[in-house]
Amino acid sequence: MNSLVPNIVSGNKVEPQDSLIDVLNPSTGEAFGQLCRADRQAVSDAISAADDAFGQWRQTSLAKRTEVMFNLRQIIRSRSDELAAVITREHGKTLDDAAGEIARGLENVEFCAGLLNHMKGEFLEQAATGIDVKQIKQPVGVVSCVTPFNFPAMVPLWMITTAIAAGNAVILKPSEHTPYAANWIVEAFHEAGLPPGVLNVVHGGKEVVDQLIEDPRVKAISFVGSTPVAKSIYANAAQNGKRVQALGGAKNHMIVMPDADLEAAADCAISAGFGSAGERCMAISVVVAVGNIADELVEKIASRIGKLKTGAGADSASDMGPVITAEAKSRITGLIQSADDDGAALVCDGRQADLPDQGFFVGPTLIDNVTPTMEVYKQEIFGPVLCVVRVDSFDEAVELINSNRFANGTAVFTRDGQTAREFEFRIEVGMVGINVPIPVPIGAFSFGGWKDSLFGDTHMYGPESFNFYTRRKVVTTKWPNANETQISLGFPTN
Ligand code: NAD
Repeated sequence: MNSLVPNIVSGNKVEPQDSLIDVLNPSTGEAFGQLCRADRQAVSDAISAADDAFGQWRQTSLAKRTEVMFNLRQIIRSRSDELAAVITREHGKTLDDAAGEIARGLENVEFCAGLLNHMKGEFLEQAATGIDVKQIKQPVGVVSCVTPFNFPAMVPLWMITTAIAAGNAVILKPSEHTPYAANWIVEAFHEAGLPPGVLNVVHGGKEVVDQLIEDPRVKAISFVGSTPVAKSIYANAAQNGKRVQALGGAKNHMIVMPDADLEAAADCAISAGFGSAGERCMAISVVVAVGNIADELVEKIASRIGKLKTGAGADSASDMGPVITAEAKSRITGLIQSADDDGAALVCDGRQADLPDQGFFVGPTLIDNVTPTMEVYKQEIFGPVLCVVRVDSFDEAVELINSNRFANGTAVFTRDGQTAREFEFRIEVGMVGINVPIPVPIGAFSFGGWKDSLFGDTHMYGPESFNFYTRRKVVTTKWPNANETQISLGFPTN
């Protein structure tokens, strides 16, 4: 029996049924549920609920907020198998991978449990004679969080946890493809003691997001998704006077230097290229082979691909699951074909792999002799496709990466400290790995790319996120002193 995914407004399920959207299991291609697209009234009600709840929540003590964070952590940890199964059913990734995503999301819950430190302001005694100055952090109000399909739990946990810890009220708008995990998390927050209305969820697509952006009661938008949408949301939200951070797509390169440990580099290329079927914004999609190691490296990667099993995410024998939709599959296979047409070498063609009959599967693909003018290089593939670009020198590799419009993550594989330092210094990318293929910062740092991978200036989760979800207010204090003249028309200087 297919279940309905409700909107959750003020803790209540809201199920308009005139516009239902099928939710598919990508491993079978079959619908197992339907989400209730929020109509204009439901979205407006969610904003009202958040607006009403905000007044109370910002007055709630930090001690109580901290307790909610600890409770949430406990709930998610104790039921992480259940959440992983929810993620795998709607996203398709393997259960291990889903568990990994939950663990990374929990890092931010743990960081937010330290909110006493993150909400602490600053104080300066005797800034001028008899005058003290303090800076306090206050929540911005109602914030909207719009999330992509590829991390159904982790990205919502990045955003909503920090926003709530900082005292805001939230409206979450998850991807239409992965709504169950989002609702699961909202319910877990309520179970953890979060009052109704502080966290609401509305489902739907562009029309829902546009309404959230245009409503003056919403003060800030956090977005993670593809670059064209990130760019338009950034412009639209700014035009509507909102604070906005919009993280976009990626094309992550991994340089392999001639002195690198090639076995380790090949292992890393496999896990970073094909984990989650390449549907990670930090997935490696281009291996840049420097100098004369290219043939050997390609051979090592290809031999590992031969051992990967592609199958249903819930099957423990699978290394890699399907991609998210039939459209994604045909876009990815189209790009593989374009590489073939453009003269690249298909070393492993995922279209010919041993794949289940049903579902949206593409096998792991390795394409050698890719050049920057090819479509397969220019576009974000977001699928299990590794391209190899051969270059002669480190300088050429750096130039290739710095010329790319995306700048989310990158990595260099080398044994030489000077090369690594040079790479770190010169590379124009937001997150950098030295012999680490997916350098997603741990929870105590913030996450974000540069250039077309992030619109706005604040990174996500960690310390920068507390800045995004708070406004700083500076209070200058002087207490009456009977011995002082009170009238002075000069500009105060001391
Ligand atoms: P998407 O841009 O299609 O959708 C993201 C969200 O925006 C969804 O909630 C969707 O409903 C909504 N949306 C879609 N079109 C919209 C429009 N025109 N106006 C307003 N809202 C709209 O992205 P996706 O396919 O769900 O996710 C994959 C993309 O996300 C990839 O490009 C990936 O690189 C990127 N991503 C980036 C990061 C990062 O941290 N930079 C992390 C994860 C995913």
